[in-house]
Amino acid sequence: MPTTSGTGSEAGIRSLVTHPQTLAKLAVESPFMLADIAILDPELTYSVPPAVTAATGVDALAHCVEAFTNIKAHPLIDGYATLGISLVGRYLARAVADGADTEARAGMMLASYYGGVCLGPVNTAAGHAPAYPLGTRLKLPHGTANAIIFPHVLAFNAPANPGKTAEICRLLALPPADGSPEIRPAPWISAVSWASKWGCPGMAPQPKPCPNGPPRPMPSAG
Ligand SMILES: [Zn+2]
Repeated sequence: MPTTSGTGSEAGIRSLVTHPQTLAKLAVESPFMLADIAILDPELTYSVPPAVTAATGVDALAHCVEAFTNIKAHPLIDGYATLGISLVGRYLARAVADGADTEARAGMMLASYYGGVCLGPVNTAAGHAPAYPLGTRLKLPHGTANAIIFPHVLAFNAPANPGKTAEICRLLALPPADGSPEIRPAPWISAVSWASKWGCPGMAPQPKPCPNGPPRPMPSAG
């Protein structure tokens, strides 16, 4: 029974833990972790504050967008991803403005659930990867870290997938991307202003000192 609309864990097969030494986020995964039943009750999210509603909502959006534009994207999962993106486009602003808006809260709960469905077969990509150290090293909430990164990744990936980027912009009611080589600024500007509407940049808390000392270089892969 989720009490926020963001992680989509009720539909997932993973649990994330942070390694205390490397501060890397590691996923524990098993089909046995899939819930037998998920109960989505929008009333349980009425008391979530606006800033947390915005940050967790962008997390749900990021799950859908990163699966939709993923090199492992699958048409079946694309359906859930586009459903989730359109629900965020329709209801996030309303849920932030009025926490007791049942229709908006229900829409965001479904968006979060659909994002969770995307995570199992496809998963996240470039957006969550740089957002993780913002969370573990600077202690930013996961959704806030994603809100900071999301517009940049959407813009960076746009030339590689202009069709799906245009679809995302359309579902979020952002100005349409035109598919030209100059496509990059359009979704970036649109997405930054979209994320700023609920004060995402302003709601980021000041970085706190890491309890385990200053950040260390990430261990090199391989
Ligand atoms: Zn996430």
